[in-house]
Amino acid sequence: MAKRRVSKKANSAQQASLPKPISVVMVSAECAPAAKVGGLADVVHGLSRELQVQGNPVEIILPKYDCMRYDRISELTKSLSGLMVPFYNQRIECDIYSGLVDGLDCFFIDPHSQQNFFNRRVIYGHNDDNDRFAFFSRAALEFMHKAGKGPDIIHCHDWTTGLVPVLLFELYKSSSMAHSRVCYTLHNVGHQGLTNANILRQVGLDTASLIRPDRLEDNHHRGSVNVMKGGIVFSNFITTVSPHYAHEIKTSNQGMGLQHTLAAHHNKFGGVLNGIDYGVWNPETDRHIACNYSVHTLNDKYKNKEALRERLLLKHDFKPLVAVVSRLDHQKGVDLIAHAISYCLHRGCQFVLLGSSPNAQIEARFRHLKRTLNDNPDCHLEIGYDEDLSHLIYAGADMIVIPSVYEPCGLTQLISMKYGTVPVVRSTGGLADTVFDANYSDKPEQERNGYVFNNYNSQGLESALGRAIEAWYAQPDFFRSLIINGMNRDYSWKESVNHYLNIYKFIKAS
Ligand code: ADP
Repeated sequence: MAKRRVSKKANSAQQASLPKPISVVMVSAECAPAAKVGGLADVVHGLSRELQVQGNPVEIILPKYDCMRYDRISELTKSLSGLMVPFYNQRIECDIYSGLVDGLDCFFIDPHSQQNFFNRRVIYGHNDDNDRFAFFSRAALEFMHKAGKGPDIIHCHDWTTGLVPVLLFELYKSSSMAHSRVCYTLHNVGHQGLTNANILRQVGLDTASLIRPDRLEDNHHRGSVNVMKGGIVFSNFITTVSPHYAHEIKTSNQGMGLQHTLAAHHNKFGGVLNGIDYGVWNPETDRHIACNYSVHTLNDKYKNKEALRERLLLKHDFKPLVAVVSRLDHQKGVDLIAHAISYCLHRGCQFVLLGSSPNAQIEARFRHLKRTLNDNPDCHLEIGYDEDLSHLIYAGADMIVIPSVYEPCGLTQLISMKYGTVPVVRSTGGLADTVFDANYSDKPEQERNGYVFNNYNSQGLESALGRAIEAWYAQPDFFRSLIINGMNRDYSWKESVNHYLNIYKFIKAS
């Protein structure tokens, strides 16, 4: 008996010292691996997983797209039918499905609308994207209201959910969410949801009081609505995905028109570096690669290089293998990516590109390039989206090139480093926060992990890529030390989640 009492006491003391869990509902257009276009999906997944691991209940609300990876969703069941969501002068009936994505509780909104909002075979890229995601924002709140949800925090992401805090403040103040606070994360201010007043009417908001310079009116287009600006103004805290990008978008035209708004709201704005989920991205356990390895068994990495060459029919040769894994978009520096291909082939490297593009012109350009290089045994361009192949590329390549025009955080350099692949990057946004030049960084030697250039032009790229190639050939021990430095650095979600938890606690108490 006595023993039992003691352990009970100890248990309650232990519980008292544990931080109180914070309940979070994420509202997002993407969540890996079920609905992924880019880094947003990885972030929503990785952040939610780590919050959950640390004892905080998390739920995620997503649209129910026809193009989701249904094989990555388990226990998918209809959990609510007949949810009537006001939209314009009608109500659209929705079914809500629940399911698990990698152990995370997700809800999927399935509207029975004439517009067929989420059955379009792609996640983005339609003329009515503004309407589709405005509807999604209203439906997410209507669902939470009807389900009686009142999380401590509603965390929404990017322009697609920018109306959530506006709707919450204007229409759902006296609902179950009366005490919920909103954290809004900007993953990329290159897409802001610029549209007209109709969007507000559609979701039941008042245009006269909201289309004002200090609210949702776009800073450059008078009379137009900027959805992301609405999210910034109405949320309790705004984050972006790296400290450097936070500075850039608040103080320069990298803010793409929102710099004045962010400066005005600087008291509730900060940069939190993204992490990566080592449950997904870990060469020691990755099931998509040919041979698992760690920093202690680095030679096994080269079995993946051989496997990659075999898979893509590249020659086996004593050459460094340079890679790009990217959306092919102006933001990612497509001109310099194309230049890197010819430069690397000219400098005695092999080159592998995995890229997809929603832009038909850019895609045509790379398809043409692929045709001209078709017979080259040192080069393979894979135009498309292929999650499995991306893992083998990270494991098999020696270097990865990321010459972005701008880069809010960038995950590909973080993943590459974990896989011992040395990043060659332009110094912008999160790339500047995470990659430190082998020769010129002011960081101590054990923190130097890649090659960096500043100017967005071919000379800039060559200045960094040339040094990387030279080091691979002439200074293998030095090159190996960069690999090891990158692998040893912890870019998991652990630390970043603590920053988010502090923000959540701060706004919860305010
Ligand atoms: P962004 O979100 O701007 O596209 P990030 O670097 O933040 O860029 O995240 C990119 C994510 O998408 C990474 O997980 C990367 O591996 C993945 N990715 C990008 N392009 C492809 C592709 N063509 N096939 C598979 N995965 C890709």
